[in-house]
Amino acid sequence: MKQINVEYNRRQPIPEQMAEVLREFRTGKYGSVLIHVFSGLPEEEALVRLCGELRDCCGTDLIAGSMSAGEIMDGHVIRQGILISAILFEQSEIGILRFDDVKGREVQTGIRVREALDAIPDLKGAEMLFPGTEMDTEHMFAEISRCRKDIQIFGGYPGGHKLNMPEHFIFNADGALYNSMIVVTYAGKDLHFDMDKSIGWVSLGMAFKITRAEGKHLIELDGRPAAEVYERFLQIDRKEHHNAEEAFEFPLMARQNGEERLRSVVHIEEDGSFWLHGFVKDGMDIHLTYGDPSNIVEKVNERLEAMRRFKPQVVLLYSCVVRKSFWEDFVDMEMEPFARLCSTSGFHTWGEILRNSQTGELGENNITMLSIGMREGDAPEAELPETRVDDTGLQGQASVLRRLTRLVYTTMEELQRAHNQLKYIAERDALTGLYNRGKIEQLINDALERGEVISLSMLDLDFFKRINDTHGHDVGDSTLREVAEIMRDSIRGYDGAQAGRWGGEEFFILLPGIDGDKAMAFAERLRRAVDCRIFPHIGHLTVSQGVVTTTGNEAWKQVYKAVDDALYRAKEAGRNRVERAIL
Ligand code: GH3
Ligand code: MG
Ligand code: MG
Repeated sequence: MKQINVEYNRRQPIPEQMAEVLREFRTGKYGSVLIHVFSGLPEEEALVRLCGELRDCCGTDLIAGSMSAGEIMDGHVIRQGILISAILFEQSEIGILRFDDVKGREVQTGIRVREALDAIPDLKGAEMLFPGTEMDTEHMFAEISRCRKDIQIFGGYPGGHKLNMPEHFIFNADGALYNSMIVVTYAGKDLHFDMDKSIGWVSLGMAFKITRAEGKHLIELDGRPAAEVYERFLQIDRKEHHNAEEAFEFPLMARQNGEERLRSVVHIEEDGSFWLHGFVKDGMDIHLTYGDPSNIVEKVNERLEAMRRFKPQVVLLYSCVVRKSFWEDFVDMEMEPFARLCSTSGFHTWGEILRNSQTGELGENNITMLSIGMREGDAPEAELPETRVDDTGLQGQASVLRRLTRLVYTTMEELQRAHNQLKYIAERDALTGLYNRGKIEQLINDALERGEVISLSMLDLDFFKRINDTHGHDVGDSTLREVAEIMRDSIRGYDGAQAGRWGGEEFFILLPGIDGDKAMAFAERLRRAVDCRIFPHIGHLTVSQGVVTTTGNEAWKQVYKAVDDALYRAKEAGRNRVERAIL
């Protein structure tokens, strides 16, 4: 396998520019040639014509073109140009599939892609190029993810240099394609891939829960309009920053099946929802992130080492446009060392696609750099030279940025810690460490509002005043703590059970999903546990309980009255008893 990169020069005839490719091809060593064209210039007609000329000149139909936000040739971005990258294969069977009318028919397309891939013998890799930013990729990818486990899949979304530029198209000799997908298939018994993504963005402490999302439309975080997160932490106001250029630098990170997925914000709506360059789901935890230069470099270095051991013959780099705008003048730094291993080409993308080799899941990513190593035949004995990102230029230039990001990170961490502490204090009873009245009441109310069947035990210590009067307040306090400990032990093994101090020597225990008989048995066991305990200083102590079980239709007021009455009856009937409430 061999790759030859040519920076297109519109004044020179194509056969002259492709001379080296033609020469190599004539040696007879190679069986097929695949040509990628990456263009930052949205000139539809000229690009289609170029593909036609390449086809005629090289005698190949294997041509895949994509609009690009940066054309990567041997590890550096060429200036506002067109990159022609030809890969010559010795044995492998390369094919190109095309799927039209994708938008609106994403699931059907997913099924067709899967069936097509599964039908190709010895298929090792598949490369998907299509304008996926505004498609229902969630459901399309769910279908594709079910294809044969050993097929490695990668790809990128086309797009121009600027945010919100409409040039999200791919192309070939047939035309510019705005609603199609090109899939390059790489098959061969002796063809090997090694692909992975590098991120390096760091999540800032606080996590938010996605409470409403529809595909790429993120509506609510923690029950509030999603944009509030950016307003509160970064002063990015939704009215001034519709096109989200500022938010772009602070993408969100979601965790899905243990994998980090970054999402950049593309558009903020007036209602506070926003559009992302990748789908998310309800219930996901999401963090704000920022780019920490040294961490990004470290992640790329890790990937470089893995790639070096793989011994590739060709490396493709599909790197997010956000990385390009993040690095600015340093953009080549993280790509250039790959070119020291072997010939490298690629483009800056508006979305990166990579299949997880463990789970089989096809993932949609933003802010990542995909590095795809390819090799025909076994790896040679000789080691490739070690290569690392040369970040010496960064030391002086970016040190202020690095220190500031460090400051932000530590500040956020401290805030998060303070926030957690405050939350704990606000919810807990200081003496026993159980939930306080406000919290346990809220938990009970939430369960009632959801219409769940729950049981409650309301518990009161018997003749507790005497203990204070006889042994003093300190002994009273430590006794309360010990009873709380017995309660904590008693709910272990009950899923979702919670205990809280209602006030004084009164407590509530919430048992979700527990029926009346089981709740009575629970309360009886707890009664006995206290009854049997020898408490320091005071010896014997008992508790009385009222127990209530809901049907899922009651209001808190009604439930409270019933259980309070039951507790009163337990006291009246002689204490050290459990009484069941009548609702
Ligand atoms: P009964 O069996 O009818 O419940 O009798 P009782 O003495 O337990 O009930 P009463 O409500 O008369 O007294 C409750 C006592 O609990 C009053 C108070 O001295 C004590 N108490 C309430 N909160 C605390 C506390 O935080 N620490 C201590 N040491 N005692 C408390
Ligand atoms: Mg009492
Ligand atoms: Mg009481």
